[in-house]
Amino acid sequence: MTRQLLWLRTDLRVQDNSALAAAMAAGPTVALFLLSPGQWQAHDDAPSKIDFWLRNLLALATELGRLNVPLLIRHTNDWSDAPRVIAELCAELQIGAVQVNQEYGVHESRRDQAVSIALRRLGIDLHSHLDQLLFAPGSVLTRSGAYFQVYSQFRKACYQRLHHSLPNLVRTPSAQAPLAIVGDAIPDSVSGFATPSEVLRQYWPAGEQAAGARLAAFAEQQMAYYDDNRDIPARPGTSQLSPYLAAGVLSPRQCLHAALQINQGEFDSGNSGVVTWINELLWREFYKHILAGYPRVSMGRAFRPETEAVAWRHAPAELAAWQQGRTGFPIVDAAMRQLLATGWMHNRLRMVVAMFLTKNLLIDWREGERFFMRHLIDGDLAANNGGWQWSASTGTDSVPYFRIFNPLSQSQRFDPDGRFIRHWLPELADASTRDIHNPYALAHHGGGLFGAVDYPKPMVDLPGSRARALEAFKSLPHLAAQVAS
Ligand code: FAD
Repeated sequence: MTRQLLWLRTDLRVQDNSALAAAMAAGPTVALFLLSPGQWQAHDDAPSKIDFWLRNLLALATELGRLNVPLLIRHTNDWSDAPRVIAELCAELQIGAVQVNQEYGVHESRRDQAVSIALRRLGIDLHSHLDQLLFAPGSVLTRSGAYFQVYSQFRKACYQRLHHSLPNLVRTPSAQAPLAIVGDAIPDSVSGFATPSEVLRQYWPAGEQAAGARLAAFAEQQMAYYDDNRDIPARPGTSQLSPYLAAGVLSPRQCLHAALQINQGEFDSGNSGVVTWINELLWREFYKHILAGYPRVSMGRAFRPETEAVAWRHAPAELAAWQQGRTGFPIVDAAMRQLLATGWMHNRLRMVVAMFLTKNLLIDWREGERFFMRHLIDGDLAANNGGWQWSASTGTDSVPYFRIFNPLSQSQRFDPDGRFIRHWLPELADASTRDIHNPYALAHHGGGLFGAVDYPKPMVDLPGSRARALEAFKSLPHLAAQVAS
């Protein structure tokens, strides 16, 4: 039984943790987390996300303490130094093997390769485990052996795999004998990342107990009604588990099993709310497979190369108005204020604001992707990139370029009584249900409450900006074919 190093990354939990279980089965285990602020900055990780990691590390140190596993903290400003730091630690602690859960970004893969090479020189193996996903990228492929590019086909293949065998939960190991190694203090902040407001922190309590409680409450009270409620941002209709899944405080296996439990073990039949929710977990899966199969998407490139020719507008003032929630379209502005205040935005609204930026303002999706990443507590390269490229019609399975959401009808449909808008735009709190979706238009025609209220005019004309976007996409030969098909 040689001593094991569990190198934690986005898997900040003890329950159902593949690498932790493998490490503790193989020998006395020490855990490690690397603080890499330079790397995080290069990845545009949001301060709220870094704060969430630190708060979860604190909770995790306690959970690991119950298992007598000390948690060490080391600094590597960026990952180029990770091989040296880990190799030195392994030599110092006489580590026999390092255990990790797989991550799928290009930088993450290169980092792990470099660490593995450095360790091999010392005769130490790096073992990596499937944990962040239900299915390993490369294991769900088309008949011709390619990665799926269409979600519905990918989902069908996943269903077949699930019918064949369900991924089991990993048992939490029992405590090991105490080691003569003391864990490190967890910093409460990291330079370069401002501490978020208490309000934001309270939205997202840390620790796997909190994550488990949120999953259990959602499964018991909401999941069966997910179909009815998931598109209404004023209702608590979605799980709000994304930050926990992104940081690995919760695993997709735990989510899947919680869903199966309330649906008699069914994933593709039975309660339609549960089935739809499991399908969302498969969207998460799909985009991570896309990231692994087509790494160009993580390098600022469009999945569809022909869309690189779109003449995006350079319009910094308009971009700033969108970022600050001053577009004059209440549903867009309320959504952006939700993001700035909580680090999270409802899925329907992520699509609405992304479509508004990329189509009505014709601003490059990469600007929106970056801004989201800098503010999202659940920022995830694969899902964020997938969502932006979907909205911009540049991605794998994206919305056809001519199907442009109208922010006013989206607002009327999904926030019919304006409850969400009133919450995030208090300046419109007194607007009537009729006025609230487009207050300026009514004021302009001499009606409504307007005049005194400090709320901007709509920054674009919707039909005109829609036509401009159609024109910009229409000239791309491959996309034009979408109209005919
Ligand atoms: P639920 O509806 O309860 O879904 C359960 C889980 O399934 C989520 O927690 C999430 O892990 C996963 N999921 C749901 N929808 C999607 C989806 N469309 N794509 C991938 N996974 C999904 N999700 C992120 O986790 N991180 C991001 O950075 C991110 N950026 C996005 C950017 C844009 C422009 C768009 C359109 C979507 C983005 N999403 C992202 C996907 C989705 O909006 C969020 O996962 C969801 O809003 C999280 O809320 P929830 O936990 O209540 O989700």
